Amino acid sequence: MLFGAIEAGGTKFVCGIGDETGQVYERISFPTTIPDEVFGRVINFFQDKNIQALGVGAFGPVNLDPQSPAYGHITSTPKPYWKNVDVVGTLKTHFNIPIGFDTDVNAAALGELKWGAAKGLDSCIYMTVGTGIGVGAVVEGKLVHGLIHPEMGHTLIRRHPGDVFVGNCPYHRDCLEGMAAGPAIEKRWGKKGQELAGDEKVWELEAYYLAQGVANFLLTLSTKKVIVGGGVAKQRQLFPLIQKNVQMLLNGYIAHEMILSNIGDYIVPPSLGDNAGLCGALALANEAFH
Ligand code: ADP
Ligand code: ZN
Repeated sequence: MLFGAIEAGGTKFVCGIGDETGQVYERISFPTTIPDEVFGRVINFFQDKNIQALGVGAFGPVNLDPQSPAYGHITSTPKPYWKNVDVVGTLKTHFNIPIGFDTDVNAAALGELKWGAAKGLDSCIYMTVGTGIGVGAVVEGKLVHGLIHPEMGHTLIRRHPGDVFVGNCPYHRDCLEGMAAGPAIEKRWGKKGQELAGDEKVWELEAYYLAQGVANFLLTLSTKKVIVGGGVAKQRQLFPLIQKNVQMLLNGYIAHEMILSNIGDYIVPPSLGDNAGLCGALALANEAFH
């Protein structure tokens, strides 16, 4: 069975063809310019591919309420030209097949649960730490939606007593994203994360913040795995530091062996690597088809 997958990112769109086992056969990618141009390329790619369903993981915020007239839209994004863009409606006019639609991070969480680092489990968190911090969640086998959808990247955290950086979030200033996303690292230290690889204090502080996010998500949702991806998580030295900080913050209260002694298997990088987003969209297509 052939499914189409779209990773609709704020910087680039990735389109792919794959199947119900998560295998990707073909992919293309292009920059997220203006909607007309982007949809032209998307439609051109999927035409004549004989796909049975399509899945889309999109940057947001998005409308996920099937009862709403704005279902399937990207809603209040600050990205020029993309406010209130009807993603699902536009695709529906060209492809008369089931279309699954969710946030990019929910898609990635579902893909990792089905085929990746959380395979065989019924819950996980997927946190991406890149240009922003986004978090997707599957709980009891279902993607978490709600009033709109969780925005856990903007949770409030305690600042480090020695950190004078004001924070970078235009809405909350020193929320998790404002203190720990890639642009916050760059503003605080004057260099991009990739140029700071050898600087231990950078990653100690980064882990101090990311661990607070992880501890809060764990206390709230109690997922069985936490996956941390995105550009910043390519600094693999972060993982033991996050793990240690989460243990310190929880202080023995979550008395489960996964936290007390197996935390190295609990907070992990994505195992689908650069295909995480596309596989997630494939998983959405698969769900829409069934
Ligand atoms: P996006 O969030 O746009 O999808 P990324 O996940 O690559 O893309 O995030 C980009 C941010 O991550 C930038 O702030 C960049 O400096 C940072 N980043 C990218 N690669 C690395 C790396 N190897 N180490 C540390 N930071 C990185
Ligand atoms: Zn914020």
